[in-house]
Amino acid sequence: MAQVQRMSKLMIKTLRDDPADAETLSHKLLVRAGYVRRNAAGIWSWLPLGKKVLDNVSRVVREEMDAIGAQEVLLPALLPKEPYEASGRWEEYGDLLFRLKDRKGGEYLLGPTHEEIFTLVVKDQASSYKDLPVMLYQIQTKYRDEARPRSGVLRGREFQMKDSYSFDTTDEGLAESYRLHREAYQNIFRRLGLDYRIVSAVSGAMGGSASEEFLAPAAAGEDTFVDCPACDYAANTEAVTFPLNPVDGAAHGPVEELDTPDTPTIETLAEFLDVPASATLKNLLVKVDGEIVAVGVPGDREVDLGKLGEHLAPAVVELVTAEDFEGRPDLVRGYVGPQGLEKVRYIADPRIAPGTAWITGANKPGTHARNVVAGRDFTVDDHLDVVVVEAGDPCPKCGTGLRLDRAIEIGHIFQLGRKYADTFQLDVLGQQGKPVRVTMGSYGIGVSRAVAALAEQTADDQGLCWPREIAPADVHVVAAGKAAQTELALDVSQQLADAGVRVIVDDRAGVSPGVKFTDAELIGVPTILVAGRRTAEGVVELKDRRTGEREELPVAEAVARLT
Ligand code: ATP
Ligand code: MG
Ligand code: MG
Ligand code: MG
Repeated sequence: MAQVQRMSKLMIKTLRDDPADAETLSHKLLVRAGYVRRNAAGIWSWLPLGKKVLDNVSRVVREEMDAIGAQEVLLPALLPKEPYEASGRWEEYGDLLFRLKDRKGGEYLLGPTHEEIFTLVVKDQASSYKDLPVMLYQIQTKYRDEARPRSGVLRGREFQMKDSYSFDTTDEGLAESYRLHREAYQNIFRRLGLDYRIVSAVSGAMGGSASEEFLAPAAAGEDTFVDCPACDYAANTEAVTFPLNPVDGAAHGPVEELDTPDTPTIETLAEFLDVPASATLKNLLVKVDGEIVAVGVPGDREVDLGKLGEHLAPAVVELVTAEDFEGRPDLVRGYVGPQGLEKVRYIADPRIAPGTAWITGANKPGTHARNVVAGRDFTVDDHLDVVVVEAGDPCPKCGTGLRLDRAIEIGHIFQLGRKYADTFQLDVLGQQGKPVRVTMGSYGIGVSRAVAALAEQTADDQGLCWPREIAPADVHVVAAGKAAQTELALDVSQQLADAGVRVIVDDRAGVSPGVKFTDAELIGVPTILVAGRRTAEGVVELKDRRTGEREELPVAEAVARLT
């Protein structure tokens, strides 16, 4: 007999008030509705209803990964240090990595992502081009010691990720594996009912070239992206690059390009600043040839030094701290792009006479442009608090004013290329009998984060409001009458369950109908069926959780409608 979930037996405690430490909607509601419970900063328990939703997301992900021919595996989360040392990420990840020692003093980490280990597994398993292409995935717990693990399960220090990896012998093969993943992700997020955008991204700590993010627009998001209303341009603001914008009739000298000496590493940067390599800084400035050239991090934006270091290579000679910026409003505040300081945002102070504000900035890897003049070489912003990219900025592709929004990163796909294959000498025997270096892709989805992202996008004033595919049940039956009527409610529930409908029934004794209704709204199952006073006459009420529409129906008709 199909199982009905009885609230009287369910381990659930709903809360009327928001948890004191909760800032985001999903955090508040998932806690209040009894889906998750916090154990420590960024460490969460999934309670019965939460586990159902999490499993539903995993199921959709799994089905779509299987559909593109990816094979599910499960690799360890507890990993030896050596492969991460070989790839450089033992150091690069800095404080983000959970490191530990075993009883013999051997060093380990808890996996934040698994490129190294998958590369080694495939090196072990594949020997010939005939063994490739192969796509492998897992749905697994990941560990990252996030600096600010707020926002509930949106940013956990332990969280669920679907990570997959593709292995091909040719660039075309990699492009195809990437395309397959991109499509699978589109199917997954559509089925989950998430509103999302695909945007260009910088590849960050993964390394590699082509990279796109799947972003779910939401106020709670920690990413900012722009998209163009006129063309298909969309990018994380981290990845936007603006060309210098020459204005005719310049009265100033030519822009001079300088070779920039020296290539600081993340370690030299960190050492100079006397901070750990993984530090997050505000208002970091950079000097070239004794002149401050930028890397302002405007406002309260923060830069992950780990990410920064990787991009700084061509630019930095000397670093100064935020204080140096004081009293020098004529300087650039900018942003470090994948090719050095290319997406510098020029800022001139209106207190300085037009044309006297000048800046230096780089627009090409390995060079800096000196004598770039505000108003001549770029559009001047006449205030100081400009962020890197703003709404209305011209689209780099077509010039139309860009839109700007906040979003949650729910997925990220990368063409890694041969970075890890080179590290671990992952070759297979090619068609010509010679070894061929393998090329890889890596692809992540935040499975637990997707639950919170969905809550952010779908919740309303009453509470959570799940799309059916993800909801912990299809129907929430509220027994709103006397004890005898609870029997009727259970009976209707069983009929539904037998017909394959997933049912929660609120059969709690001594709980008022008002409380039950409030809880039903909070829990957010798509259909609420009220078995109340008229149920003895064979009539129930159906309520659509999202629209609030209600309808009274004979039981048989209600059951037929829902099955
Ligand atoms: P973020 O920019 O939010 O820190 P990320 O770029 O570091 O994420 P990736 O390394 O691209 O994350 O990991 C793949 C996916 O894992 C992300 O797109 C995101 O959905 C999810 N994810 C990453 N970090 C967390 C976290 N701390 N908690 C929950 N999900 C996460
Ligand atoms: Mg991160
Ligand atoms: Mg990111
Ligand atoms: Mg990412």
